[in-house]
Amino acid sequence: MTAVAVMASIAGCISISPKMRHQQHPPRNLQVLAVSDRVEPRIYGPGIRSVAGDAELIVGCGDLPYYYLDYIVSTLNRPFYYVHGNHDRPEYRSNRSVVREPQGGVNLHRRLCRHRGLLIAGLEGSHRYNANEHYQYTQMEMWSHVLAMAPTLFINRLLYGRYLDILVTHSPPFGIHDGTDRPHIGFRAFLALMRWFKPRYLLHGHQHVYNNLTTTQTRYHQTRIINVYPYKILQLDFGPTPPRF
Ligand SMILES: [Zn+2]
Repeated sequence: MTAVAVMASIAGCISISPKMRHQQHPPRNLQVLAVSDRVEPRIYGPGIRSVAGDAELIVGCGDLPYYYLDYIVSTLNRPFYYVHGNHDRPEYRSNRSVVREPQGGVNLHRRLCRHRGLLIAGLEGSHRYNANEHYQYTQMEMWSHVLAMAPTLFINRLLYGRYLDILVTHSPPFGIHDGTDRPHIGFRAFLALMRWFKPRYLLHGHQHVYNNLTTTQTRYHQTRIINVYPYKILQLDFGPTPPRF
């Protein structure tokens, strides 16, 4: 077993087989439906296929009811990756069942996943603003989440030549698309993650957008940061050079 394979097994990763090697690169272009924070009638209805029927991947950035996410995933029948937002709670259905996670998806919090060669990771929640235990973190706690992911990110670099393609978060980074009140202050650890691990995209929600003049896309070092509220159809570019922005 090579040193890289040993490190991969220690971190809970799977060493790549020859068959997987030619899947190391993500598709050059990927159409993504990304949603957050508000149920959008154009998505939650019969028009979803005309709006998002060509999406190859669904990304949830949090603060959405699970019935809405279930509708999107079951209608489009595409892979689904998500993080929780600070307002996410268990849903109590009429048949007395309790739904704690949206169906048919992968919770990305503190996880790194590979999808068709795409390296995707996530960090849930918002800045802590009250005593509720769910999906709120201090700046220090979010630093610990980022550092916990670092070994696997380094392994990605060894195995695939890059650390990460997409980071999915609920909160924006500190100073970019964020607010000044405690619930909406962004995370400083995201800035370091982008400088160190160079994801091509960071997709987030949490910060509601009420007019067209609000900045929703920002470049930070090699990362394009996109506020997806309430939904966006994104043409992500994973070509050898970052797209001009
Ligand atoms: Zn939120």
